[in-house]
Amino acid sequence: MRVHVFKGRGLKSCRTHDDAAIRRTLRVIAAGSDTRELTVVVYLLNRKSFWEAHAYTDHVTPAVFQHTGPSWNFVKRFGPPPGLRPRFRLIRMAFGMQQTFPRWVTDVYGWKLRCESFLNLLAYTFGHELHHYRRYVLGLHPGQGEQAACRWAIQMANQTGYGLEAIRVKIDPATVPRCAEALRRKKWISALCVKHKDHFELLRSLPDGAPLIITHDSGKSRHVGMPAFKIRNLKKGSYRMSVRTPDGKEWFWPMQWLLPATLREVTAAPVKKSRERTGFLFAVK
Ligand SMILES: [Zn+2]
Repeated sequence: MRVHVFKGRGLKSCRTHDDAAIRRTLRVIAAGSDTRELTVVVYLLNRKSFWEAHAYTDHVTPAVFQHTGPSWNFVKRFGPPPGLRPRFRLIRMAFGMQQTFPRWVTDVYGWKLRCESFLNLLAYTFGHELHHYRRYVLGLHPGQGEQAACRWAIQMANQTGYGLEAIRVKIDPATVPRCAEALRRKKWISALCVKHKDHFELLRSLPDGAPLIITHDSGKSRHVGMPAFKIRNLKKGSYRMSVRTPDGKEWFWPMQWLLPATLREVTAAPVKKSRERTGFLFAVK
């Protein structure tokens, strides 16, 4: 397991954000898991409330590392960590550090947690993402989802000296806006997969290397009409596909914005500008 810690301005010299303690916490939680493929990046931000983490269970390349959604723009500011391997699995965690501990936090899955220090919160967050890594990469915890990941993370934290008092609560989106946003996004992805079921299945059935045409992008439309090549499918339930554009860049592209190149020739008519909510060009577990 490789660990990189990035810190925002003003946080570099603070003792409670000590690199060694962060690395020790991650090592303790990961003990017993095969993390040889894993790179963990921790962002400590000079903000009040940010708290998000993602496990990328598909292989990530250095080219894909910088592609993030708008709320993770700080990734570009910090730049990629030095010495990234050509292919790796990634867990990224970001914390707003303008907060004091002990404190209660509530996650998007309805767990209210009493964290004695930042390290307790870190242990829980990493445990949750590591559970996804263990499931999808190591083949452990078959079929287990978010709630199982939360329970496992609480158990791991409690077993390793990062104890948490944990209470199951009904989420009130009015008080935890992040919850509402995450659930909305999950619903949106499921609806998208239903709406484009046949199209997604067609793209998924194409062999790796198949030529594609990009019909829409979330930027300044600079890729629209350009060819791309399928690298591979992402995991089941993803609405994106790993593709390479002619400039050599790799992307996780929304499949509703791709056509098989041969089909495009038949369809000929320009593809209408999508009114769907914008999808990000990157992959998040
Ligand atoms: Zn999760």
